[in-house]
Amino acid sequence: MDEYAAPVRDMRFVLENLVDVSALQRLPGYDEVGVDLILTVLDEAGKLARQALSPLNRKGDHQPAVWSEGYVTTTPGWKKAYTSFIEGGWNGLSSSPEFGGQGLPRLVSAMTSEIWNGANVAFGLCPMLTLGAVDALEWCASDELKEAYLPKLISGEWTGTMNLTEPQAGSDLAAVRTRAIPQGDGSYRLHGQKIFITYGEHDLTDNIIHLVLGRTPDAPPGVKGISLFVAPKVVQRDGQPDQVNDLACGSIEHKLGIHGSPTCTMDFGSGEGALAYLVGEENRGLEYMFVMMNSARFNVGLQGLGLSQRALQMATEYAAERRQGLAVGDSGPERSPIDHHPDVQRMLALMSSQTEAMRAVAAVVAAAMDTAAKHPEAPTRKAQQLFVDLMIPVVKGWMTETSQDITSLAVQVHGGMGYVEETGVAQLMRDARITTIYEGTTGIQALDLVGRKIARDQGSAARLLLADIRGVIELLAGAGDALNDLHGRLERATDDLEQAVAFVVERHPVRPRDVQAGSVPLLRLFGIVAGGWQLARSALAAQKSLQAEVDPEFHRRKIGTARFYALHILAQSSGLLQAATAGSL
Ligand SMILES: Cc1cc2nc3c(=O)[nH]c(=O)nc-3n(C[C@H](O)[C@H](O)[C@H](O)COP(=O)(O)OP(=O)(O)OC[C@H]3O[C@@H](n4cnc5c(N)ncnc54)[C@H](O)[C@@H]3O)c2cc1C
Repeated sequence: MDEYAAPVRDMRFVLENLVDVSALQRLPGYDEVGVDLILTVLDEAGKLARQALSPLNRKGDHQPAVWSEGYVTTTPGWKKAYTSFIEGGWNGLSSSPEFGGQGLPRLVSAMTSEIWNGANVAFGLCPMLTLGAVDALEWCASDELKEAYLPKLISGEWTGTMNLTEPQAGSDLAAVRTRAIPQGDGSYRLHGQKIFITYGEHDLTDNIIHLVLGRTPDAPPGVKGISLFVAPKVVQRDGQPDQVNDLACGSIEHKLGIHGSPTCTMDFGSGEGALAYLVGEENRGLEYMFVMMNSARFNVGLQGLGLSQRALQMATEYAAERRQGLAVGDSGPERSPIDHHPDVQRMLALMSSQTEAMRAVAAVVAAAMDTAAKHPEAPTRKAQQLFVDLMIPVVKGWMTETSQDITSLAVQVHGGMGYVEETGVAQLMRDARITTIYEGTTGIQALDLVGRKIARDQGSAARLLLADIRGVIELLAGAGDALNDLHGRLERATDDLEQAVAFVVERHPVRPRDVQAGSVPLLRLFGIVAGGWQLARSALAAQKSLQAEVDPEFHRRKIGTARFYALHILAQSSGLLQAATAGSL
């Protein structure tokens, strides 16, 4: 199997045509971040991914992390790769320079995340969780906590975790029971058990900083009584020797995929209680955790994208080499490579068109995150944040669900060799399976989309997006015959999405069960239309480049990809609309 190759050419197309990099350069602190600089970063990330992370991917699958007496040893080679990763400054790529980060736009770190996930998703989880912890602390911790933890989390000298789940509290975080007892000196002691904690324990760094949801003794019941705490594995206080905190990893899970990533049961407070500090204010923990979850949800979407790209790469390589039968039109005498058969071409095009659609949507959302964070004018910041909030469940839900289809198609392209473990393609399918479950299942993303993001504002954010899409449809109408199919299908699918949004707005206040029952099909409809929107913009840009005779082969393929997506994916919109509006059982 060839090692992972980062899709820098397609990323370049996205940077040059779909996101406005020059507008990002006008944001404070980003003046030097032009397309060339971003491409240099992506090339370097691609090298690290190919040389250091990708070769460990199968090793992680075959030699998972091991637990012994409370300690976890990661897969051989993991530690060296982690050291290269942090020495290269990759951990703090988009974190604040105030605490040692490189301060690059989220757009850039989103693209590098795709690269890490494509090369080795089990490895990439560790910095992903650290980034979530950094985001939450930057947003809501006191200056003292920021000083204490951010520099080392951003450099990667320490890693971060997210401790939400308990045996009785999975999707339902209102059921969290971990107790936080105030000590009268501003600190707390935690008692409770957390399960399924990614990289809760490992040997990559000397310290691990746990962000933990818990309840103070007189907290109100439900989500309104949850607070966020920070509990380090090793407590360091001025003038005192380092002290191991009262928290430990009781065991790690044996699981379907991402074997290289330790999934830990964490026991807090078997003795005096784990020393912890309150982040922000009491009882506002869930609100803060949403900051971390939004970052993590977006990044899990990027896991789906990275895995899809890797699956596409493997399937494309295999299909060019494997020979079976004589494809219609081939003259022989040699048997044809299977990528000459129309059905294999269809599978590869399903994979490539959806992968490119996801990459484009993710980039546009990441650029909106940057604008929402940095634009000098408040109304622009607000409008961009509205778009980001709307799109987070779509990026998470649609991209991870699509990665199930794409990794499965990669197995199909490999035939029997895909089903056996030898080629490594089955691992992608197993690794992808978790992405629709953690950080909120697809069902939970869909509830967020229809409830908080559509019904709550009577569909106004969704309609703003629909208006943008209609603007592109108008451009397609004047773009000539080559984009006719795309125009017709995108228009129909946008009409379908508009109807689905209207259904949510009208029905949610009176019969929310009906809306919830169709929420996952609606989320998929939303995702495929968003993908079609971006591929339509891609086709329009590619048409211009073709007219200017720039890289004709690449741009002709781009137009073909968008057309294929319209005929095979956007064409599903009417079925999804029916399912989205069918009501509850
Ligand atoms: C490998 C792995 C790593 C993980 N890493 C972490 C981590 O680092 N930190 C952490 O805190 N947690 C982590 N988790 C936990 C993960 O986030 C939860 O498993 C996930 O949120 C789902 O919770 P659950 O497993 O309890 O499933 P449940 O909540 O029991 O859900 C089961 C099914 O019921 C559906 N469902 C539940 N409630 C509703 C509802 N209200 N409406 C509609 N459908 C509903 C779900 O969609 C799902 O299909 C990890 C889990 C795994 C397996």
